Amino acid sequence: MYLSEYQAKEILAQYGVSIPEGRIAGSPDEAEACAREIRCEKYVIKAQISAGGRGLAGGVKFAATPSGVRSSATELIGKRLVTEQTGPAGEEVKQVYVEAAVDIDRSLYAALVIDQRTALPTLLGAREGGVDFEASASANPDILETLALSADGALDDAEIAGFLDRLGLSGDAAASVKELFVAAIRAFFATDASLVEINPLALTPDHRAIAVDAKMVIDDNALARHPELDPFIREAPTEESERIARENEINFIKMDGDIGMVVNGAGLGLATHDMVVDAGGKPANFMDIRTTANSFQIAKVVGLLLADSSIKVILVNIHGGGMTVCDTVAEAINFAYARSDRHPPIVYRAAGQNAPWALSIMKNRRLPFEKFDDMTGAVARAVAIAQSGAR
Ligand code: GDP
Ligand code: MN
Repeated sequence: MYLSEYQAKEILAQYGVSIPEGRIAGSPDEAEACAREIRCEKYVIKAQISAGGRGLAGGVKFAATPSGVRSSATELIGKRLVTEQTGPAGEEVKQVYVEAAVDIDRSLYAALVIDQRTALPTLLGAREGGVDFEASASANPDILETLALSADGALDDAEIAGFLDRLGLSGDAAASVKELFVAAIRAFFATDASLVEINPLALTPDHRAIAVDAKMVIDDNALARHPELDPFIREAPTEESERIARENEINFIKMDGDIGMVVNGAGLGLATHDMVVDAGGKPANFMDIRTTANSFQIAKVVGLLLADSSIKVILVNIHGGGMTVCDTVAEAINFAYARSDRHPPIVYRAAGQNAPWALSIMKNRRLPFEKFDDMTGAVARAVAIAQSGAR
C-alpha cells in the first residue's frame, strides 16, 4: 500500500524522524485555518496524490501568509495533477498538506528498500536530492551510494560512518543524518515497509536533518499485522476492483491488458502471467485465489472481469489442491456467467483435485469454454483469441 506524503511523515515522526510542522486540509478554508495554527514566515502547500514528481508539475506551492496559503490551496484542490509518475490521466487533488517551509542549506536523497538481489534491507543515498534526482540518477547511476544492512536492520558503526562520508557529510550534519537514518530504519522494520524514500532529506543551515518529503510503501501481505494502519487503508486510493477482491480472499492487481486471468496460488499466478506475456499477450489482471476463498467470493471477483469491457477472453488456470478444489472454481465461474450480460469465451485448464467433476460442471452449465490439458496450449489459445478480437 502506497502511503501519501503526510501519512508517511506521520509514521516516520512516530519513530523519531524530524519532519516540518504540518496539517492536512481538504478545502481552501481548512488550509487557511491550518496555516493560522502553524504560524511561520513561509508556508509550503503540497498536493497529496499517490505519486511523486509534484514539484516539477506545479503541485508544490509556497506562500507567505495564511491567505496566500488559501489561494494556493484553491489552485490545487479539485485539479488533476499530471506528473512524470502519474501517467497521462493524472490524479485528482483532494487534499493539500500545509507545512512550515524549511530553510534548506543542502538537499540529499535517501531511501530504504529491500535489495532484490541480496534480499537485504539496503540504505540508498545521494549527495544531491531534490526534484531532479530521478533524471540525474538515471543518467548517472553512480551518484547513488548503497549500504546493505544486516537482516534485522542493525547498523555497523564503521560502515555507516563510511556511508555518511561518501555522502559528503561530516561533523554535526553527519550526526543528525545518522540519527534520521536510525529512526527511519526503525519505522521501516516496525511497519513492514518495502520502501521508505526521503527526497529531499534537507540539512538546515544549523545542521539539522529534516525529511522535507517522504513516501512509504507498506507490504500488503503484512497489513493484517498492522491494525494501526487501518485508517490509512481506508483513505488509500486503491483500485475499486482490488479492494473488492481483497475483501473476497483474493489477491488481485488490475492491469491494462485484455486477457482476464483466473488463477489460484501466487506462484501459479506469476508463472501464468509470464507465459501470457512471453506468448505476446497482455493480462488484464493478476489473480491469486487464496485457499480460504469460497465459490461465492471467487464468483464476485470473476464478475469484475466479466464487467470489464476491455477483457476479450478469460483464461482459467487452476491447480486443484486440498483447499481450493477445481469444482469450487468451476462453480464460481458458473455463478459469475449466470449473473453477467457479457460472456467472453473461456480457455480452461484445470488439473488436480476434483478436476473431472469441475469439467462436468463446465459442460453441464454450457459455459462457452475450450478445454486444454496443458498450460502452454491454453495460454497460446487465449492469446490468439485476444489478438483476433473474437468475443
Ligand atoms: P515531489 O516533487 O513530489 O517529490 O515533492 P517534494 O515534496 O519533494 O517537493 C518538491 C521540491 O520543492 C523539493 O525538492 C524542494 O526543492 C521544494 N520544497 C518542498 N518543501 C520545501 C521546503 O519546506 N523548503 C524549501 N526550501 N523547499 C521545499
Ligand atoms: Mn520529493
